[in-house]
Amino acid sequence: MALQSRRQVMRAAMHGAAGLCLAPLASRVAPVYAQSAAPAFDAVTLSERLYLLTSAGQANVVAQTQPDGVVLVDGAAANVAEALLDTVAGLPASGAIHSLFNTHWHPQQTGLNERLGAEGATIIAHENTRLWLTTDITYPWDDQSFAPLSKAAQPNLSFYDTGELNSQVRYGYLRHAAHTDGDMYVQFPEANVLVVGDTVSGAGWPFVDWWTGGWIGGIVGNLELLLDLTDAQTRVVPARGRVLSRADLQSQYEMYNIVYERLSRMLNSGRGPDEAVAAKPTEEFDAIMGPPDEFVRRAFESLWAYLTPDAALPRRQWGVFA
Ligand SMILES: [Zn+2]
Repeated sequence: MALQSRRQVMRAAMHGAAGLCLAPLASRVAPVYAQSAAPAFDAVTLSERLYLLTSAGQANVVAQTQPDGVVLVDGAAANVAEALLDTVAGLPASGAIHSLFNTHWHPQQTGLNERLGAEGATIIAHENTRLWLTTDITYPWDDQSFAPLSKAAQPNLSFYDTGELNSQVRYGYLRHAAHTDGDMYVQFPEANVLVVGDTVSGAGWPFVDWWTGGWIGGIVGNLELLLDLTDAQTRVVPARGRVLSRADLQSQYEMYNIVYERLSRMLNSGRGPDEAVAAKPTEEFDAIMGPPDEFVRRAFESLWAYLTPDAALPRRQWGVFA
């Protein structure tokens, strides 16, 4: 029911977000998630020439070995770059990595950019992701700071809507902005594999990075887009956690719709993030999804950026608008 209004809101919000102008600070060192010490990657065959390289589920990378070299979807964090490159080199019919996708700007996706960019690889990302990687970012909730990547490490092929690498790889923008406003998918049609970055979590409640454009309404909206791109046989690879099915996406879609409605109602009745957390709006899902407080807080705050009339106020106060 509120879906209609959510869509309208998102359309309006997208126009607003386009004007976002970003401000300064420190250096890209700290990770977005706590790093677990799990540098080794396991290679799991998804299909002929297509592999999931996973570091204990904390970092999922997909590699396709093509006759002219390797395509990678995400590059994991810089501190596991060597382990990842070793794993890629050990794949059957491996070769040089000629193309790297960044499903969004986070350091867990962009750890190979410096190295592969310097070697002349094509680094593909949505234009918003490219822009985030050219600017300083500091989170308001914990002061983590991220400096721009060097020119060579920045995406050198950005897109707005959809694209094709060749007949074997298609990609597109997930325009509702779930995790960040640069979320994208990469599709391997022959293998019926869809790589979705952090727009979908395969490992508990997600991190809603509303500071760079993600929001709870976007989680619902992007799941809707992904349902249209999948069938019962599709394997969906998130950036963290297990490989998912279309049925998993469907249940997540229904679950996040419920959470979105509850949080929106609380926002509309004047509640704040502490009250949202205290109200336990995810209670019936927590046994499966895990501790919810951080997710609920960020998801609630994400509504400020998209649903309140003076949405930009907190960001203006923090000096982010020019
Ligand atoms: Zn992320």
